[in-house]
Amino acid sequence: MIAALCPKDAVTKTDQARRTRSSRSIVSFFVFFVTFVVQTSVPAQTEIGEPDLAAASAGRAIRIGSTVDGRITVIPLEVYVSRVLAGEGEPRAAEGAQQALAIAIRTYTLKNVDRHGRDGFDLCDSTHCQVPRPSTPSSRRAAMATAGQVLTYGGEIAEVFYSASCGGRSERAGDVWPGADYPYLIVRKDDVCEDDPEWTADFTLRGVQAALARVGFEGERLENVRVDARTTSGRVARLHLSGLRPDVIGGNEFRLAVGAVNLRSTAFSVDRDGESLRFTGHGFGHGVGMCVIGAGRRAMRGESARAILAQYYPGLDLTLLSAVTPSAVLTSSPPRAGVPAPAAAAVVPPGTTGIAVVVPRTSPVSASELERMAVRAHADLARTLGTSALPITIRLHDTLDAFRMATNRPWWVSEVADGTRIDLAPVAVLEQRGGLEASVRMAVAELLVAGALGGRPVWVRVGAARYFSEAGPSAPRPGAARTPCPSDAELTLAVSAPAQREAEARAQACFAREIERVRDWRAVR
Ligand SMILES: [Zn+2]
Ligand SMILES: [Zn+2]
Repeated sequence: MIAALCPKDAVTKTDQARRTRSSRSIVSFFVFFVTFVVQTSVPAQTEIGEPDLAAASAGRAIRIGSTVDGRITVIPLEVYVSRVLAGEGEPRAAEGAQQALAIAIRTYTLKNVDRHGRDGFDLCDSTHCQVPRPSTPSSRRAAMATAGQVLTYGGEIAEVFYSASCGGRSERAGDVWPGADYPYLIVRKDDVCEDDPEWTADFTLRGVQAALARVGFEGERLENVRVDARTTSGRVARLHLSGLRPDVIGGNEFRLAVGAVNLRSTAFSVDRDGESLRFTGHGFGHGVGMCVIGAGRRAMRGESARAILAQYYPGLDLTLLSAVTPSAVLTSSPPRAGVPAPAAAAVVPPGTTGIAVVVPRTSPVSASELERMAVRAHADLARTLGTSALPITIRLHDTLDAFRMATNRPWWVSEVADGTRIDLAPVAVLEQRGGLEASVRMAVAELLVAGALGGRPVWVRVGAARYFSEAGPSAPRPGAARTPCPSDAELTLAVSAPAQREAEARAQACFAREIERVRDWRAVR
């Protein structure tokens, strides 16, 4: 039941020609058969309804956890595909594009069913997973026409990605997410996007510096931003930041720091003009996998879903779900529909507790456990300090590399609290240091004191966070009166883990000594 997607199929050819050639493939026949049935047996005015899609789901269902009220809803697979397609697709795109995206969405869904296993459901309804919207006649038609079809690699459901517009060339997955190396998510020319007009985005050096300061870059004055290295697709791999510390940043991290909507992709060049920077580029999004706008153009010029998938996922097989080994498919037994989830959403939106949490797929700690931990720490410390730091977003990283990329801090740092955001090193690493709970408390304490202690030397903030996050405020140690307080550089630019620990211990001792004297934590300076 497997038909290889041959890249040759990607060249333009009419549906008619494809149908004639593809009779040797059962899947192609299936596509043809369903298309035929949809186009001829069902009069145009008879719409496909969600009950039809439920029947076509062959008993497969997805448990969706609401990030709004925590409820779990069980939705038949094909109904879910039609709803996500309504949210992600181009509503007026031609059939081939709608169908290709429906297959990509179904593949992504089944590949990621264990994403929220610890939370008691399969996928959440936010951008963390996929956002469903009310299905439309065209999204239901595309789900029905491709019912049960998925992309596989080596017999298993494939990992697939898609983004809005590639700008002429797709990107290799590993160049966006280090370690994500898939032989079918590679750099490919996309001729339908090559003539796209350039976009430009203007930023002031001061604005870029402020955005970078929020993610941990320091320095008096950003003087220039220069492209240091490019990926094989030509996107920006690394930028040099004259005047800041550190003075390099990854292209993708830079885009996320200054705003992924303003800086539409990393396929850009940059020119300085006085105090401003002009970015000129192509495309929108990370560019990995299917290009949704390109797929629409291909369908418009007559390409089938198969040909479109062969362009964007070369080397994957189009397979019927019934032919994929059962263990690789949905195995969960869904609970009754509409049963409220016990505080289970993995991305808890601010508004319920004011603390949003994002955990990796393989996390040993569930989002709800981490959220409860943070809520406890915040309630306790907020009472002691008489202030609040909500809303807070906590991101638990699954590798030290990911943590370092996100925070630009050295490997020995366990947690970074900045603005409204907390980044945590992987649980396994934290367990070898003070433990996850201690890191959460420390980071929450840093956010709580940051507002009132903003303009002070760094030791005041670091010392206060350490002093208050320990179980009971510590008395000044003997000899603390002689301890010199650490300089900002000792705390932020420590050259080794022991040097960092020593400087932080001194910051805490200094703070303990000062608060004995002035009594009010806000008055320590
Ligand atoms: Zn999710
Ligand atoms: Zn494209």
